[in-house]
Amino acid sequence: MKSYPALTPRGNGRSYGDASLGDFMVSTMQWSQKIILDQDRTILICAGGLLLEQLLAFLIPQGFFLPVLPGTAKITIGGAIAADIHGKNHLYAGSFGSHVEEIKIQAGPGNCLTCSRNHNKDWFFATIGGMGLTGIILQAKIRVEKIETAFYHQHTREVHSLPEMLDAFSISPSESIHQLGWINDPNKPNRFGLFSRNKPASIQDLPYHQRDNPFKTTPFRSWNMPVYAPRIAMNPMTIRMYNLYHFKQQIKLNEKIISFHQCLFPLDKIQHWNRFYGRKGFLQFQAAFPAEGALMAIQELFNCLKTYHKTPFLTVIKAFGVTSGGWLSFPIPGFTICMDFKFSKDLPVFFESLHRITLNFNGRIYLAKDALLKREFFNIMYADAQRFTNFLLENNLKFSSALSARLQLTRT
Ligand SMILES: Cc1cc2nc3c(=O)[nH]c(=O)nc-3n(C[C@H](O)[C@H](O)[C@H](O)COP(=O)(O)OP(=O)(O)OC[C@H]3O[C@@H](n4cnc5c(N)ncnc54)[C@H](O)[C@@H]3O)c2cc1C
Repeated sequence: MKSYPALTPRGNGRSYGDASLGDFMVSTMQWSQKIILDQDRTILICAGGLLLEQLLAFLIPQGFFLPVLPGTAKITIGGAIAADIHGKNHLYAGSFGSHVEEIKIQAGPGNCLTCSRNHNKDWFFATIGGMGLTGIILQAKIRVEKIETAFYHQHTREVHSLPEMLDAFSISPSESIHQLGWINDPNKPNRFGLFSRNKPASIQDLPYHQRDNPFKTTPFRSWNMPVYAPRIAMNPMTIRMYNLYHFKQQIKLNEKIISFHQCLFPLDKIQHWNRFYGRKGFLQFQAAFPAEGALMAIQELFNCLKTYHKTPFLTVIKAFGVTSGGWLSFPIPGFTICMDFKFSKDLPVFFESLHRITLNFNGRIYLAKDALLKREFFNIMYADAQRFTNFLLENNLKFSSALSARLQLTRT
């Protein structure tokens, strides 16, 4: 076999850590972005470099939608499959990989293959959640959903404690419901948080003037964070003030009809929103826990915040349903928590404590958000880690990333 450098597949670079960084990065975003919709079977065939926002612009006017969406539409299909992304509806819909029927992969020079649940099965389950290490995702067949409108009915209510928050996520499998718990300040019990439930709006839910055009939404008036915020701009006091403002705004109008942009992608409204954190940026901690131990695990994480005097800018909880079967796929039935922290020198030590708590409660860290997890922790968190590495070796795959080198998933 001819020698060639280890490549890192890259989408739109929206993973938070080092998953799409490497010496030789290759993006499919400039390649041909063909889309086909098979109307009868509601199957979409599309290229790996296509952005979800491009896909939605194609699907929505025809009355279709993607069944799973993350908190931004600015990611690619390749990135969605490689991270096996989840949305606020995971409890009902599972992750993105659960809706993928077939994937076409470039696994090396002259080695292009297709895989599905029935054909090249190992390739399929290694690729879903496989962080781009099985090859470049060229194309995918994905099941799409029919929609009546491009709007959601949102109901928001106040919750007073963590147990109340976790209890708020309930199962009603007949409806595609997006649910999100937002915590005001984990260090302070008063005005604890908000729980919002969003369900796709029917034509009857819309005001009369919108019923003739149920797929037409007003696009965001997006604005730009032009410069990095100064170092002192984000501190525990400003974070608390901002969160209190958000709390009061949201609770004011607890029932509303909102567009899918407002419901699913609120951060896309602000270009370069990450600049709020200053030049050194931020890191997100995201862990998933089995339902039984989740309450205690999250309480332990909150105790750890107190020990290290940390105030997260954003704290969000979602519920997870069944897994997709991807070997390195992140979601497990239970709950997930994300917290954003401005970068500081002690962040690696603090994150290691959070990782230890996660391990103690049989949880796991989301690779698409990670930059600091240690290999020994990862190997315990992901039971199929060795199987995955063996698969890469057996098939002589030469893809790598800063993440795969750190976790020793690939030998380069
Ligand atoms: C504001 C915001 C909100 C988010 N919310 C969520 C959320 O709710 N749920 C969630 O699950 N994630 C969420 N994410 C994370 C994001 O969805 C994932 O990190 C996603 O993988 C990023 O896709 P990308 O196209 O930018 O890929 P990149 O960040 O460029 O790459 C991510 C991974 O995919 C691989 N990859 C990319 N393209 C290909 C390809 N064509 N073939 C093979 N491998 C490829 C890369 O090697 C890398 O391992 C959020 C991110 C942001 C910025």
